[in-house]
Amino acid sequence: MAAATLYIIATPIGNLEDITYRAVRILGEVDLIAAEDTRHSLKLLNHFSISKPLTSYFDHNQQFKGERILNALRQGKSVALISDAGTPCISDPGYQLVRDAVAENIPVVPIPGACAAVAALSASGLPTDMFTFAGFPPSRQGKRRTFLGAMSALSGTLALYEAPHRLLDTLNDIREVLGERQVIVARELTKIYEECIRGTASEVRTSVSQGIVRGEVVILIAPGDTVSQECEPLETVLHRLMANGSLSIKDIAKQAAVISGVSRSEAYSEALRLKNDPDGA
Ligand code: SAM
Repeated sequence: MAAATLYIIATPIGNLEDITYRAVRILGEVDLIAAEDTRHSLKLLNHFSISKPLTSYFDHNQQFKGERILNALRQGKSVALISDAGTPCISDPGYQLVRDAVAENIPVVPIPGACAAVAALSASGLPTDMFTFAGFPPSRQGKRRTFLGAMSALSGTLALYEAPHRLLDTLNDIREVLGERQVIVARELTKIYEECIRGTASEVRTSVSQGIVRGEVVILIAPGDTVSQECEPLETVLHRLMANGSLSIKDIAKQAAVISGVSRSEAYSEALRLKNDPDGA
């Protein structure tokens, strides 16, 4: 194992057997392990009988802790970065540390392994030749819809992370903004209650609405058809967004403009026209 090297080590997303031999070996050899949550990671390290100095590295101490970790690396120490689950830096802290290490020519070595988005994609049956991983959608509905609208013209499968308590709302928005595409909710991957809920956006939304969703989920959305990839007609999009009934004309226009690729003012005047004359009389 090389000195003065930053190792980015993937850890399991549930099933502890999903750690690699190489990850276990390097975790046991480094001088320091930087973990998102030291108490959480201690369970994993104890399981593999790894006992090494641990330090925390999470969203709110990144700047200050990043400097300390860089100092250790500058002094020739080897450091492993791990997160609570899966691959560090993927919707997890780490990228700033990697960026700063790279800027100082400190070697950065990935130790690949589990990643929830990739695991879900691999078992999805959706096209994987091209996909977009877009992390967590915004938690507020207006922003989430605008975010989804911006994704509507992308080719390939779309992969999102979502918190279980927001899943239903996000599925609603997927249906409203992206239309009736194939959707997969991959839940609790590698764990006891692992399941993949498959169907159209409405079918998956209905299945999900029938129970309480617990645990962790990845949402996969099939690519749109050629029409939607070339931007859906403004009027179709406006009708769909207006049917929701909960959005202001301004928000509808904002989202429709992104989805249809027209200006906000055009979307706004068309939305007003449809509102005042829904039957086009
Ligand atoms: N770095 C991680 C990775 O490589 O997948 C992701 C960390 S992110 C903070 C946590 C999110 O990943 C969860 O909210 C969920 O969307 C997804 N996730 C993590 N583990 C999962 C699992 N076992 N099954 C389904 N989704 C999971």
